[in-house]
Amino acid sequence: MDKPPVEYRWALDAADRPVPITLARRGERYTCPLCRKEMVARLGAQLQHHFSHLEANDCDSESVSLAALRRWLALNFDQALNERRALPFTWQCSLCNGTHTQNLLEGVSHVLEDLLNAPESPDVRLTDAQGDPRAMFYLLGRDAPVPESLQDAVGQGRFAFALSAALLPASDDLAAFLASLQPFAAPCPIWDQAEVVRQPERLRRLLINLANRPPHYFFAAVETVDDLVDVVRIGRYKVWAALPFWLRAVGGTLNRLSPEVEIFIQNWDQPDDGTIYLYYVRIRETRAIALRRYPLHSAPSLHVDDRYRLLRFTALDMARELVSN
Ligand SMILES: [Zn+2]
Ligand SMILES: [Zn+2]
Repeated sequence: MDKPPVEYRWALDAADRPVPITLARRGERYTCPLCRKEMVARLGAQLQHHFSHLEANDCDSESVSLAALRRWLALNFDQALNERRALPFTWQCSLCNGTHTQNLLEGVSHVLEDLLNAPESPDVRLTDAQGDPRAMFYLLGRDAPVPESLQDAVGQGRFAFALSAALLPASDDLAAFLASLQPFAAPCPIWDQAEVVRQPERLRRLLINLANRPPHYFFAAVETVDDLVDVVRIGRYKVWAALPFWLRAVGGTLNRLSPEVEIFIQNWDQPDDGTIYLYYVRIRETRAIALRRYPLHSAPSLHVDDRYRLLRFTALDMARELVSN
């Protein structure tokens, strides 16, 4: 049996610009964005229009789409930057539940395309004059894991996008494409104003300082504070405490008491003496953090009774129980 024909929806034109099949013209020269070999536009009446290689090849359509999308993004961003055009982008913010609009090219000086296709680095990067990324675009194949560096971008005040080949648009319209995107990570002006602590290192230092001060324990609910989602108040600080961020910054071993009751437990040995135990508690819809410093050769008993089965027992109740007696 013949293999089904592989669909290619985009190719590069003679000027090396990606072109969707909807804009292809008969008789033009096209090349494959992946293998760089010659392609033709099939614009017949029988089949859906598509590009095809002139010679046999191993290019799978997903990789060709991703290569075309990468080129297309990089060229469009570069062109907008050179023309000093703004690229307004509107998104639903997961940090404050609000809607924000920002120029994607604000503060951007360079557009970089990762031609080596390294899995951990973004495929297209918009950086400021110092080379720090303002926006990162990761183009991911169907079975590709979400890169660590992409997950680390959440809450760090810059844009990060995870794009699949399915997002390759049918037309050469960047504004329409941007309107369809949901960011994986994005800055939040409300957060910036409130100076929410969101750097892993700062969070760790804050927790250690807290444990070293009498009474050497602390507990607090993870809640929405002044429209800021997943925040803990620690003194005058508002600290971001979404679970994925906590696990990256603090870590912990999961103890699941029931499907709705989870406690992540971490311990940090201190250089002078003693150990700090840190807890992230989730009970139904409620969450809380707790910590306590124990002197050398002593450790928490970690006995919990089964009151957590009561519907009104919250994560804060559990957090208090874990560290305050
Ligand atoms: Zn090819
Ligand atoms: Zn926000």
